[in-house]
Amino acid sequence: MPNPMETYWQKKIEKCREALVQNHFDVYTADRQDDVKRLIRDDILSKLNVRSVSWGDSLSMLATGILQDIENRPDIRLIKTFEDGVPRAEIIERRRQALLVDVFLTGSNAITESGQLVNLDMVGNRIAGIMFGPKTVIIVVGRNKIVAGVKEAMERIKHYAAPLNAIRHPGWKTPCVKTSCCMDCKSPDRICNTWSITEKSYPKGRIKVIIVNEDMGL
Ligand code: SF4
Repeated sequence: MPNPMETYWQKKIEKCREALVQNHFDVYTADRQDDVKRLIRDDILSKLNVRSVSWGDSLSMLATGILQDIENRPDIRLIKTFEDGVPRAEIIERRRQALLVDVFLTGSNAITESGQLVNLDMVGNRIAGIMFGPKTVIIVVGRNKIVAGVKEAMERIKHYAAPLNAIRHPGWKTPCVKTSCCMDCKSPDRICNTWSITEKSYPKGRIKVIIVNEDMGL
């Protein structure tokens, strides 16, 4: 007897994959997050001339362990956009430099069944890298990020992912940290500043999306 959960997610992911391909993204699928590091290394990076890599904040991408892999490669310069003990001004400068790398790694807050990426940033460096600059963008998304359309994506982000992201940063004083609800705040710590909707990859194949058949990130 078929496993209904398995069947459900296989169909959902396949529909999303087909829509992304129609929208000129390169698309890969993985059954488990443990498969993603090998996939990025062997199926994507090995086919590119990669001399520099950086990233935009993403729990899904970090969970793959790919950054540790790249950090150990003497042939690739890894621009660290997060590093404990490094002054904020230096981190911001690194994030500016990260927009010129060969490969930019990150995640997406939501992905629609019609093949769009929807994101909301505090600083904007993640969205900027997805839009323009890095030659190749690799996005890791778990199945839990799949939503019906842009409206549902924005609702998911504003009422679920954004409050959770605020809560995961100790010391931030947004109202959602206390209530778990978006209050459309004016806090200096507000993490909801810039939206992006990526309808298509331009040039074709510049953005590569890996959909994982597991829940990942927020
Ligand atoms: S707008 Fe403010 S309250 Fe709403 S989710 Fe963003 S940070 Fe939280």
